[in-house]
Amino acid sequence: MEAKPILWIVIPCYNEEAVLPITAPMFLQKLEDLGKAGKISPQSRVLFVNDGSRDRTWAIIRELAEKDERFLGISQSRNRGHQNAVLAGLMEARDKCDITISIDCDGQDDVNAMDAMVDAYLAGSEVVYGVRSKRETDTWFKRFTAESFYKLLAAMGAEVVFNHADYRLVSSLVLNHFADYEEVNIFLRGMFPLVGFPSSSVYYDRAERLAGESHYPLKKMLALAFNGITSLSVKPISLITGLGAAVSLLGLVIAIWAIVEAILGNTVAGWTSTICVVCLLGGIQLISLGIIGQYVGKTYLESKHRPRYIISERTWEKPERHWIEQ
Ligand code: UDP
Ligand code: MG
Repeated sequence: MEAKPILWIVIPCYNEEAVLPITAPMFLQKLEDLGKAGKISPQSRVLFVNDGSRDRTWAIIRELAEKDERFLGISQSRNRGHQNAVLAGLMEARDKCDITISIDCDGQDDVNAMDAMVDAYLAGSEVVYGVRSKRETDTWFKRFTAESFYKLLAAMGAEVVFNHADYRLVSSLVLNHFADYEEVNIFLRGMFPLVGFPSSSVYYDRAERLAGESHYPLKKMLALAFNGITSLSVKPISLITGLGAAVSLLGLVIAIWAIVEAILGNTVAGWTSTICVVCLLGGIQLISLGIIGQYVGKTYLESKHRPRYIISERTWEKPERHWIEQ
């Protein structure tokens, strides 16, 4: 029999009792279709990650797993948030499959994009980003905030794929290197580009949630954006240093002006010295803060213990695609 890659679909679930019974059969159907199309192995699985749900979600996952061996589930001891749930699933899957696809369980991400994702993998991509082509079903507000979010991230030096959330194919080869990124504050969509390897994008229309409610109100979105920036970039610290330099320069100009005014006799006693002290001290303080910040930033990056380099291929080894008999 010809070798086919084993696919594990990884699905984070938090309080999803309303939507899980609707979408679980859709994921299984997709697995079957991909298998019939000869793209993936019959050993492929659907892995649910229960993220400390308070409703019947875990009970439903257990029932699914009992009924069909292609459904599997793991449960986190408590709610740790979407990013950690996806990570837990990917780390569970990485040594049991060749490729993973992470997807939300609410039916918003179009499962039909998986065909193109697997095709892109077979054509050589190790990471395939699912990118939303349209956001017509989102409200104006959600679309505006989400798109501003990507622009802000880019401006702050965090490399992310525009309009890509966490619907993504990642090979186990990449996951094994990704496991060396041991940081606790994770922002997956910004971290996979750091790992490298050939990647591509697949476009899909984002639909509305099939049932239940979103767990991402504005407050959580802002928290995610803030976490994304501070986890991936120390650029905000450089901004302080830059601001310090600008304020110092401005302070110098104002101080010179104050001295000139004093010489011309346009001022009352004490004004010039006060202005000079305020301007110079303000500048010195901001610059000092910026310099300390640079060291704090470097310490922060060092504390992540990220791999310094990753070798993807060697001339004396065959490229790693272990599902193909070499
Ligand atoms: N989710 C999770 N843990 C959480 C919040 C959400 O695992 O603490 C899951 C949720 O079950 C869903 C996905 O993350 O599969 C995306 O959440 P949601 O649909 O609520 O976010 P939105 O699509 O509205 O941004
Ligand atoms: Mg959703």
